[in-house]
This record gives sequence, structure tokens and C-alpha cells, in this order.
Amino acid sequence: MKVILSSKLEDRIKAVKSLDKDVPSLLPDAVAYPKNEDEILELVEHCIEEHIPLIPKGGGMSSAKGLLPLKGGIIIDMTSMNRKIEEDDNTITLEAGSHFHNPRVYPTLWKYSTVGGNFCGGSWGIGSYKYGPNWDQVIEVTMVNPRGKLVKLRGGDTKIAAHAEGTTGIVTRLRMLKLNKEIHAKMIVFNSVSEAIQYSEKIYENNYPLYHMVLRSPEIAKLSIGPDKWHLIVAYEEDEEFKDGVDASQIWENRDKFFAGVFYENFSKAYYTTYHFDFPLDPKILKGITEVEFANDNKAHVDFMTFSKEELDNIKKSFGKSSFDVEDIYINSRLSKEHIRKIIQYKKMYDKEDLFNPGKLQF
Ligand SMILES: Cc1cc2nc3c(=O)[nH]c(=O)nc-3n(C[C@H](O)[C@H](O)[C@H](O)COP(=O)(O)OP(=O)(O)OC[C@H]3O[C@@H](n4cnc5c(N)ncnc54)[C@H](O)[C@@H]3O)c2cc1C
Repeated sequence: MKVILSSKLEDRIKAVKSLDKDVPSLLPDAVAYPKNEDEILELVEHCIEEHIPLIPKGGGMSSAKGLLPLKGGIIIDMTSMNRKIEEDDNTITLEAGSHFHNPRVYPTLWKYSTVGGNFCGGSWGIGSYKYGPNWDQVIEVTMVNPRGKLVKLRGGDTKIAAHAEGTTGIVTRLRMLKLNKEIHAKMIVFNSVSEAIQYSEKIYENNYPLYHMVLRSPEIAKLSIGPDKWHLIVAYEEDEEFKDGVDASQIWENRDKFFAGVFYENFSKAYYTTYHFDFPLDPKILKGITEVEFANDNKAHVDFMTFSKEELDNIKKSFGKSSFDVEDIYINSRLSKEHIRKIIQYKKMYDKEDLFNPGKLQF
């Protein structure tokens, strides 16, 4: 085979190192470093014949156990496939292991993530207030499917690969819509959490034409950037306006220090969980190191972080099972019925043996 393969212990350990907490001593048998689609096709053909599991990996920032090699096999490190294929006024086509270029929607950890890893393992992010989940920005996906064929998914079919964690194929390139506008940001500071929630819900209900909106607690600001009070950051495109608040361009420039960035900085000692709550939000639930991101799915995406396992357990006990449960090894509960149905249908048709990222999809 042409693809570079390593079974050195240090490479196998490095390949499972990610932001997934509680990573047990599960290691892949080898790590592959493909440079192009032909090498992936050859590798996939070999693995189908030999019944070897395959787990694709981008930047390793997954927070939902997506990279665990539950049945061993080969982790495919996609980061050498990072070329720009083509670009026009509105779209850009990138190899899956690329970083972001003018994205409409991207995760807080965009500096460390790949476009393929975010599409296959992420969901909502910066820009989702206006544009929705990351998969709505992707108009064509190229992937090597579990029959070893290079296929193109377009329109609604892109959901077969979106947040599927590689269970339906190895994504090799994505054609994505670009954001061609400058973003401005303002900040509104509040004296109490109730005031902050009331204000943000009013903006949300009035469908204000914002790009992004995030409500941050004093505690998260202390660990990163922002005032020692509840504050709302509103970001809007250059052709829009926002009357209230003060200029927040400095905080916006540091948006990699929003919630996921704070977790990343404190990874070894921090715990986190996430909930998607309906409106109206009860102010009593927002305590401690927390952030609320608003997206276009009529939910408040609330992230909680703590330095105590006991406190984390208390949070989980009081809110019950999350409707976006990152602790659940299966992707099923995190997606809409229609979305997961597409993934299951494809999986049943092409990968009954569950060789593609095994154990992550209930089907
Ligand atoms: C505290 C915290 C908060 C987070 N908040 C958000 C958030 O708000 N929004 C969000 O979208 N994400 C969020 N994330 C998750 C994660 O940071 C991002 O989704 C990130 O962009 C993943 O990209 P990556 O390249 O690191 O992917 P990886 O971690 O390498 O992979 C992610 C998943 O996709 C699969 N995969 C990777 N590449 C491919 C490929 N080429 N083909 C098929 N499957 C592939 C992997 O097997 C894995 O299951 C958060 C993470 C943390 C720790």
C-alpha cells in the first residue's frame, strides 16, 4: 500500500489523544497518514477485505468520544489532506483536513480543528444564530463510502455524513458557503442574571438580524476575557446595525477564549456538560462558569464547566439527561429524527458489519 502506516506505540497513543475525557486505554492497532483520495481508497479496500475497523481523525478536538477506537483498527489522520481545491465568490472547496477559510459557522476551537472533523463531529457554533448548524453551510461532500467507492453527496444527502462521526464514510473534501462580510461586535453589561436573560430573550424573539449572540457569566470572564458581570456579546454583519451597548471588538477578536477555549486551556482539571434548553430560561439555572449560545433552532445552548466532579454530577442530577448529550457514545440522541434516519438507512445499506467508526451509531 502507498499510504504511510505506523504501528509505533507513540503514534498510536498520540492518535487517541484528544479532548475526550475518560479516554480509557483503548489504542488503535495502527495510524494511517493519507496524502490524497487514492491512498484512502486503497486503504479502505484493504480494510474491507481484512475486516479492519477505520476511525477518521481531524484535529482531535472531539468532545463526544467520537475518536475512541472501541474495536481497535486503524485511525486515519486526515491532517495532511489540507489543500484548497477551488474557490469562487461564494464557495470554497477544501480537503477535509484543512483549517477554516472565511467560514459562515465554525467552532470556538477553530484554530485546532479541521473542516472535516467539525462537519463530521460538530454542530452549532459561531455564526449559528444567523446561519444554523455547520452542515447547512456545506453544499457538497466527497467521501469514500464503506463499499470503497468515492461518492458525492449533495443537498439534503450531505446529512448522511454530517455529525455521523465517520460511521458512513471517510469525508475527503467539502464545498462550503463562505462569509464575505466583516463582523462587528458590541457588548451589553447587566447587573443581574435575570436582567441579562430577559434582554437576550427579547432580542431572540424579535428575530433581530444578528450573526452571533452569546451570554457570558462573570466567572467565565474571570478565566478568559470580559467584565466581572453578566454580559451579552452581539455580533452583526457590516450591513446591519445594533444601537445598544459598547464596542466589543477586542473581546470578539478573542472569541477563541469563549467557552470551549476556556475548557481547552484548563483541560486537565476541568469538567463540562452541555444542555439545549427551551425558552424562557429560568435564571436560577445559570450559575458558575457558564455561557449561553443562541442559535436558530429555538434553543438556548448552555455550557457548564466546573473544576469539581461532584459539582458536575450535581448539575447533571438537577437537569437530567441532556437533549444534546456529549457523554453518550452514540450519535443517535444528538440529531433530529429525520437526520439520524438518513444516517441509519445509509449505514444499513453499506456497512452492516460496522467497520466505519464502530460502536458510535445504534442502527
Ligand atoms: C468544551 C467544548 C465545546 C465544544 N463546543 C462545540 C460547539 O459549540 N460546536 C461544535 O461544532 N463543536 C464543538 N466542540 C467539538 C469540537 O471542538 C469541534 O466540533 C471540532 O471542530 C472538531 O473538529 P476536529 O477536526 O478536531 O475533529 P475530530 O475531533 O478529529 O473528529 C470529530 C469526529 O469526526 C470524525 N471525523 C473527523 N474527520 C473526519 C473525516 N474526514 N471523515 C469522517 N469523519 C471524520 C471523527 O471520527 C470524530 O468522531 C466542542 C468541544 C469542546 C471540548
